[in-house]
Amino acid sequence: MNDDAYVFMGGTFDPIHNGHLRTALEIQQWMGVKHICLIPSKDPVHRSTPGRSANQRLAMVRLAVENEPALVADDREVCSDKPSYSLHTLLSLRQELGEQHPICMIMGMDAYQTLPSWHEWERFIELAHLIVVKRPGYEEPDCNVLGEFTKKHRTKSIEHVLTSPAGAVLFHELTPLGISATQIRQTITRGDSPRYLFPDSVWHYIQDNRLYGLTN
Ligand code: ATP
Ligand code: MG
Repeated sequence: MNDDAYVFMGGTFDPIHNGHLRTALEIQQWMGVKHICLIPSKDPVHRSTPGRSANQRLAMVRLAVENEPALVADDREVCSDKPSYSLHTLLSLRQELGEQHPICMIMGMDAYQTLPSWHEWERFIELAHLIVVKRPGYEEPDCNVLGEFTKKHRTKSIEHVLTSPAGAVLFHELTPLGISATQIRQTITRGDSPRYLFPDSVWHYIQDNRLYGLTN
């Protein structure tokens, strides 16, 4: 087992759900790494501010992974005094792990499609590999700046990604789960049950803390 590469998935996780968890677990097995880190963001920079605090979203991630050693909640963004830019996270990881350590950032196709709008996105590839996961409803970019970027950096070799520090984009198809946090928030707001879209422990936390507009 290669436990050398640091592989992570960032997100708002508002709340974390089985689409995140299944994706992370399948990638962990596919890459043969020891674990995947899930990094909830502190202050979202790409979307309107969610109503749940960073600590609440982190608590839900912790509950979701508590019985799964292959998945680890990483509080580096929540505990950082900087805003949650991916660039900051990658720079801090690179500094911590050293120049030669493979670092892989997992993102869904929807997130990848918006990459050119992220703060200093072109530097990401100097600091990490990007593992892009197909997500129902989102196509691979084939034109414009991202299409060019993809062509330039694309690899099909998992070995390459595990043995070099950064620089490649690797697409991977997994069990498609069309679950989103948006759908879960809407389900709860409607008064319907969101069970089986995420772990029961997360649902109990939401109920105990009356999140997403729950009143009883
Ligand atoms: P929202 O609906 O609020 O945008 P989300 O479900 O997209 O939430 P995020 O926290 O925004 O969740 O996503 C974090 C990361 O997980 C992103 O890279 C996103 O593409 C990926 N992701 C989320 N849901 C899935 C899924 N069902 N399958 C694959 N990747 C996913
Ligand atoms: Mg999203």
